Amino acid sequence: MLRAEFLICSKNCIRFTKSYRNNMKIKSIKTKLYEWKGPVKTSDTIFATPLSPLPFQEDLQAPFRFFSWLVVEIETDEGCVGIGNAGLAPDITKQIIDAKLSKLLIGENPLNTEYLFEKMYRSTVAYGRKGVVMAAISALDIALWDIKGKVTEQPIFMLLGGRTKKHINTYYSRLYTRNLDSLQKEAAYYKAQGFKGMKLRCGYPLTDGLSGMRKNIEMVKVVRDTVGDDIDVMVEAYMGFDYSYASRFLKALEPFNLRWVEELLLPDEIQNFAKLKSNTDIPLSGGEHEYSRYGFHDLIMADALDIFQFDTNRVGGFTAAQKICNMAHNHGIDVIPHGGQMHNLHVVMSSFACPMAEYFPKTEIEVGNELFWYIFDGEAIAKNGMLQLNDNKYGMGLSLKTEGLEQFKITE
Ligand code: MG
Repeated sequence: MLRAEFLICSKNCIRFTKSYRNNMKIKSIKTKLYEWKGPVKTSDTIFATPLSPLPFQEDLQAPFRFFSWLVVEIETDEGCVGIGNAGLAPDITKQIIDAKLSKLLIGENPLNTEYLFEKMYRSTVAYGRKGVVMAAISALDIALWDIKGKVTEQPIFMLLGGRTKKHINTYYSRLYTRNLDSLQKEAAYYKAQGFKGMKLRCGYPLTDGLSGMRKNIEMVKVVRDTVGDDIDVMVEAYMGFDYSYASRFLKALEPFNLRWVEELLLPDEIQNFAKLKSNTDIPLSGGEHEYSRYGFHDLIMADALDIFQFDTNRVGGFTAAQKICNMAHNHGIDVIPHGGQMHNLHVVMSSFACPMAEYFPKTEIEVGNELFWYIFDGEAIAKNGMLQLNDNKYGMGLSLKTEGLEQFKITE
């Protein structure tokens, strides 16, 4: 075996010789579950969810707020560590990696990302394909690409398609409140911060009927009236409605010049999305809870959506994300991934399919996406509504925080 020569030149930069890179092997895989034990803001955080149409539901939000996160570390035989993550059901995702996927990767060359993705996908296809198994594969794929970036001394976006834009435009994603005064203040504040787009939630579930729909429209009107006509406004339904409600809702939203309406239906209602799309001029977005290149191929074939919103840490990592961006671009579909965060920002920077990114600002813990800010160092911060990725930060450009972790229970 050729011996590695390497020079540790900074925290995130380990320089390897070419002979080393061609012979590296995965030595170990560690999974760490970060569970938030600190305070959570619950008051006034209300939005429609897939439980909204059901009777007997006292808390529509609880199953859809995520207060734990999974971190994966893949280490090579010469000490390069790639970091990946998963945000949905991270406790179960951890078990899948520990019990099933890790053994498929140990001893393999981490740079063979295409082959390793297929090995993981095909080995689990009988019980996997979508959901937590694909989230587990995604976390590992992200860590493998992080290694690829570190050993080649490139940020991941340079390995995908390079820089396709000077900077990344973002839209502000929060506005969880249904209090109209708070909504107005928050929208005005973030417009003043320079954001050129913002997304609000539907505060009233399907079971509130027509009066709930009227209040949802009122919320949209308050935001549109506050920010004026030069800011994109989007509406998030978080899978909370059915075809009949969605169809009437879209009609009522026509005067507000929305950039898109998001996830009106359950992810599997592909044909109903297609029907909605053929009957409205408002762009429809979705795919935040769709998985794999096959899932998005089906959406394209059905002409179901105008905008795809996969999350790289669910859809199959960078390996799948890159393929989906290429498919979408050929069909005139924009890709605006869910969640901001570095694993999505590298995709946005590297593809002409991606006009902008979502941005969850660092706030107190509220729905779970905020946890990212408390676990990692290196997240890109929006200024004047725009983000920049650093050309000199290799791989993902993230490291794990070593301080301020008192509020977490961390399980290896
Ligand atoms: Mg969403």
